[in-house]
Amino acid sequence: MAITALMPVYPRCGVRPVRGEGCYLYGEDGAKYLDMAAGIAVNALGHGHPALTETIARQAATLMHVSNLYGSPQGERFAQRLVDASFADTVFFTNSGAEAIECAIKTARRYHYANGNPQRHTLITFDTAFHGRTLGAISATDQAKMRDGFEPLLPGFAYSKFNDLDAALALIDDNTAGFMVEPIQGEGGIRVASQDFLRGLRQACDERGLLLVLDEVQCGYGRTGKMWAHELYGITPDIMAVAKAIGGGFPLGACLATEDAAKGMVFGTHGSTYGGNPLAMAVGEAVLDVIEAPGFLDHVVQMGARLRQALEQMLPNHDHLFAEVRGEGLMLGVKLKSDARPFVAHARDNHGLLTVSAGENVVRILPPLVIDESHIAECVEKLSEAARVYVPVADE
Ligand SMILES: *Cc1c(COP(=O)(O)O)cnc(C)c1O
Repeated sequence: MAITALMPVYPRCGVRPVRGEGCYLYGEDGAKYLDMAAGIAVNALGHGHPALTETIARQAATLMHVSNLYGSPQGERFAQRLVDASFADTVFFTNSGAEAIECAIKTARRYHYANGNPQRHTLITFDTAFHGRTLGAISATDQAKMRDGFEPLLPGFAYSKFNDLDAALALIDDNTAGFMVEPIQGEGGIRVASQDFLRGLRQACDERGLLLVLDEVQCGYGRTGKMWAHELYGITPDIMAVAKAIGGGFPLGACLATEDAAKGMVFGTHGSTYGGNPLAMAVGEAVLDVIEAPGFLDHVVQMGARLRQALEQMLPNHDHLFAEVRGEGLMLGVKLKSDARPFVAHARDNHGLLTVSAGENVVRILPPLVIDESHIAECVEKLSEAARVYVPVADE
């Protein structure tokens, strides 16, 4: 048999982590890595944070799973805290980002159905968007590499250009349900929505009775230095998908909505066997305790500013390689003048630095939110060393 036991859908690299501690990962062979990827914006508290590990041990021994047929004191408590910390009035818990997106799509469609407008079923989404890997989520992106061979895809999506407000507004017709957009595209290459773009979408929704669905799976939950990325724009969505950092490494996601936007989501319309189980809820509260602690988001803002400044200082020293720094808070990207993937591999294999490549030749730097100055210095030093000895690979 030629196929591997793990379905070979990932081109896995040689790093084989078996242990983590704070901002470091340790490989099977003992190699040490500075983790500036954090499981792709997941390990917000780093690895092995005691608040998380102790909560998991305690709750696992108390009660891990019960059916959603029963009352959920744990879920009610965590949902109320998310409601208190956001625009939302209600929360559906999932196990992943793609499931949170599925719930968001269903909530948006069902809203217009409940209002007697079932023909308003189409969400306008944007180029290089990434919303996950379910059939619904891949139908919501125009990226061929994720869609090819999985047709027929889900109808009910129209694709426009990111940061082009006029193009988005021109696509609105009688079938439009609203817009679904990442305030900062992660996989797309740390593409930050402009103020005019996101505010313009909000205004169009208000004027035409459409819904603004935000995908904050990667950019939300403290990553930008704000609890929610949309706070950077002075707007709120009607529906929002959250995951990644919300569980700090435990599989957890959530779909948040206003009372009005969730009007169609009545008994029996949606469900999940594991979603919102007591273990996940305890973990969610433990992560939120840390993120809501006084000074935590200020720390993200400060570290983000320091890291950005250090990266910008480094850039001119490697003018042949680096083009610009982009992003917000600790969601940063260094755009290269050549393919980002071989550089990410070089920094990883030869300098022990973990980053993630993204669209537009961007190297994503998504450290644990608990990094300190020493990690920033180490990161920039390693990047600089890596750049000094690197021979750019020509663009394919
Ligand atoms: C990671 C990601 C998803 C999908 O989350 P999964 O947990 O992998 O299903 C959706 N949207 C964005 C913006 C993401 O970064």
